[in-house]
Amino acid sequence: MIKTVEEIQSKLDSGDAVVLTADELKTKFRNGEEVSVDDVDVVTCGTSGVMSGTTALFHIPVAEPGSFNKAKEVYLNGIPAYPGPCPNELLGTVDVILYGTNHSTTIENYGGGFLIKDLIEGKEIDVKVIDVEDNEFNTTVTLEDLPTARLIGTRNAFMNYSSFTNPDKVSVKSIFNAAPLEGPYNSFTFSGCGEINPLQNDPEQKIITKGTKVLLNGAEGVVIDNGTRSTPEKPNLMLTADMNDMKSYYCGGFKTGMGPEIFNSVAIPIPVLNENILENLKVLNKDISLPVCDIHGRHLPIATVDYTVWEDVDYRPTTEPDMCFNCIPCLPALYCPTNAYDKDTKTVNSELCFGCGYCSMVCPRGIPSINMGSISIEAEGKTRKIDVTCRQSDKKRALDISEELKTKILDGSFKL
Ligand code: SF4
Ligand code: SF4
Repeated sequence: MIKTVEEIQSKLDSGDAVVLTADELKTKFRNGEEVSVDDVDVVTCGTSGVMSGTTALFHIPVAEPGSFNKAKEVYLNGIPAYPGPCPNELLGTVDVILYGTNHSTTIENYGGGFLIKDLIEGKEIDVKVIDVEDNEFNTTVTLEDLPTARLIGTRNAFMNYSSFTNPDKVSVKSIFNAAPLEGPYNSFTFSGCGEINPLQNDPEQKIITKGTKVLLNGAEGVVIDNGTRSTPEKPNLMLTADMNDMKSYYCGGFKTGMGPEIFNSVAIPIPVLNENILENLKVLNKDISLPVCDIHGRHLPIATVDYTVWEDVDYRPTTEPDMCFNCIPCLPALYCPTNAYDKDTKTVNSELCFGCGYCSMVCPRGIPSINMGSISIEAEGKTRKIDVTCRQSDKKRALDISEELKTKILDGSFKL
């Protein structure tokens, strides 16, 4: 059977279409259920993870028109942003590009990802402008004050990721872990949401292509094109959406061994038009390989595991505050990449938690605890069982955003 997008949309409009999340569809396959093109019309896939290739474009009112000729330097909560390309000469406003990975010069462990979350939450941010004549202008703004606030993901929602371990005795600082990666073979960090990841379910990009509508951090957005360094074997996407429509839960900063990074969440609908598209949707975690690389070489796999790393594990930690030592400092609170761990109550803020698992690694009493699973690889002539020590993708948010997209498609607020 062959269907068209228009036919599926009209079934949706009349309330007759079947929409499943990728997770619901995979559960059917895992249970051995037969699913045909007749049985499902749309599948919503999702991913959430650290996505360094993320930038924001802002237009910011700063001072009265004529008060300065042109901005030379701009800082948002101390984070350097790049003025231009439009000079906005004598208008008292600036266009800036802010990288999600830029770090604040005034606030410790704060960067572009945290700033974008703060803006979406409606918080006030400080703006400092130095003009071409070295005069300084300061103001504060909220998202409402910005005529343009648009997120542009230059490399988002990868299909294939590499995971990392450290074979060496000396720990290594990297953007792939919340703190230095301990060795030898003592830590393992990975990204990607496996079988529910959008591109993993459409590897030939028959559906996900230039112009495809997406949910980016909860806002309706679009695929501009494939992202930078995208290849047919390792595709990723360039996406954009208006920050005014985003939900702060789906994005934010993430502290790593090399300073704060940024995470986003993306959901993409796959209309089930024919057998070939359904066949691609049958991919399961066990079918998706995850190369394990030496953090030193980065692109040289030393072994391969698969995305069953997401099976039989917890997505969030639990805590037992009564057993706490009250040590100073409280390491989970110090190292939590998203500032979700409360050092006073020893509890986890569920709106902020990313499920990375790092808190359970660093607490000497195991007050926060989470089952993150482990991998087993052959390396240097030995079988090595390595505990998963950090996850840089969040399966829970990926499930949440794919569920949200399903709801929007069914209630008609997101048209295919
Ligand atoms: S590190 Fe662990 S035991 Fe120490 S204060 Fe924090 S939660 Fe309590
Ligand atoms: S799992 Fe722990 S360290 Fe990671 S975000 Fe949640 S509270 Fe923070």
